[in-house]
Amino acid sequence: MSFLRNLYAWLVITRSNFMAVFGGWVSFVLFVFIAVCLIVGIARTLLAGRHLKRSSPLKRMTPDPELTKHAVESLQAAIRIPTVSGDKVAMDKLRDYLDERYADVFEELQFLPTTGASLLLRWKTKGKTDKLPILFCGHMDVVPPGDGWGDVDPFAGEIDEEGYIVGRGAIDCKNVVIGLFEAIQSLLKEGYTPTRDIWFAFGHDEEIGGAEGAAKISELLQKRGVRFETVIDEGGYITEEHFGRKRFPAALIGVGEKGCTYFKLTAHGQAGHSSVPPRHSAVGILAEAICRIEAAPPKARLLDVIEENMERSAPAMRFLHRFTVCNLPFSKPLLYRVFRDVPTINPFFRTTFACTQVKGSSAPNVLPGTAEAVVNARILQGDTPKSIRKYLQSLVADLDIEIEPMLETPASAIASTDSAAYKAICAVIEEKYPGLPCIPGIQTITTDSRHYEPVCDNIFKFMPFVMDSEIYGRMHNAGEKIHQSCLGLGVEFYKSLIRGL
Ligand SMILES: [Zn+2]
Repeated sequence: MSFLRNLYAWLVITRSNFMAVFGGWVSFVLFVFIAVCLIVGIARTLLAGRHLKRSSPLKRMTPDPELTKHAVESLQAAIRIPTVSGDKVAMDKLRDYLDERYADVFEELQFLPTTGASLLLRWKTKGKTDKLPILFCGHMDVVPPGDGWGDVDPFAGEIDEEGYIVGRGAIDCKNVVIGLFEAIQSLLKEGYTPTRDIWFAFGHDEEIGGAEGAAKISELLQKRGVRFETVIDEGGYITEEHFGRKRFPAALIGVGEKGCTYFKLTAHGQAGHSSVPPRHSAVGILAEAICRIEAAPPKARLLDVIEENMERSAPAMRFLHRFTVCNLPFSKPLLYRVFRDVPTINPFFRTTFACTQVKGSSAPNVLPGTAEAVVNARILQGDTPKSIRKYLQSLVADLDIEIEPMLETPASAIASTDSAAYKAICAVIEEKYPGLPCIPGIQTITTDSRHYEPVCDNIFKFMPFVMDSEIYGRMHNAGEKIHQSCLGLGVEFYKSLIRGL
């Protein structure tokens, strides 16, 4: 009601302002034009969702108990092996465990040796086919546990009183690795053979860039001339509450990911005793540069896939957000503005900057000759590490500061939502969760899948596990966990997807 009251007040004030400025007929025509535009915009907003797939709270299904029990035990055992990136001993232990637990899988599928502890498996079709193979990915390494676990051992893989398996890797991404192994094993028991080659690649160093794992596997595949119709990696998931709305669950499917570049900023100043400071020190210059960078984010723009994402998400949004989405392209400037302060949405419209590390003097009374900072740029499709570096340089051109890129990962290509693979994923979603909308989007984080761009045009990032945003937020955080039934449903989903591709 307060919105309608404010709107009415705004209309009355606007009308009298028009009367004062333009007088008589001109102000009347202008006023009617604006009022009609507004009413049409509001009507379009209220009707949003009529032509879009609406949703209802997700019905929790019960997965096959035997399959779930086996998968739960496997995931618990995998979590108990602390495969923090770089720990070779733990990684070998996990490989040994997988060899033993899935001996039938290793016997049936072709194992291809790769570098490090990464795994590459090929499930060959027995028939003849022209279809290109499919590649499923995941990674076996995890990030360190970090703080905040309290009394819980992050590598115990215990089940809590609500039925969650708790531990590092539970949703990132031993659930994917175990889920796929369980699906293959179960399909083998059912006597299934794929109608095309299906490959599986599990990296051992995704959390530190994947240079020795996925990158090397990709090189091997390129040498062998293997191309894939699609690659399916971790990433999007089934959310129980899109935009925080329980009534609007959705399957979020990543069709691309932003790039990631670190820039080292080095400011130069006069070194010496802090009792005789210059007017502008190295630290001051650096601070000024950081303030300018934070105050001037690159221009926003609307990628086609983000427009589709916003339109499909509109029924889940609150009124003002929905108004901006339902009246595109006229409302584009308003769209960027209302989402500017929403940290989970703003990055989809622009390249973002985050200053992450700062270094100055080593003593409190010493002026440093140089001060350094690291700026992490997450690069939106359309920008490049080079263009962003140029942009940063233009912001600090008058300061005594150098900008040097430390790591440059460009933004990925965008996979097609018209592709057969995307439709196959959505078909299984519809089979398992009737009425659940499939919403494509891009990810702000990077995954191993980017290394497979030379061997595949359509890379999707989707793990078929149901979570709410609170559980998803535990990734790389304390209390990472997955529900047992969610794991079982994920295995069943992978089975259907393998059959359906
Ligand atoms: Zn991951």
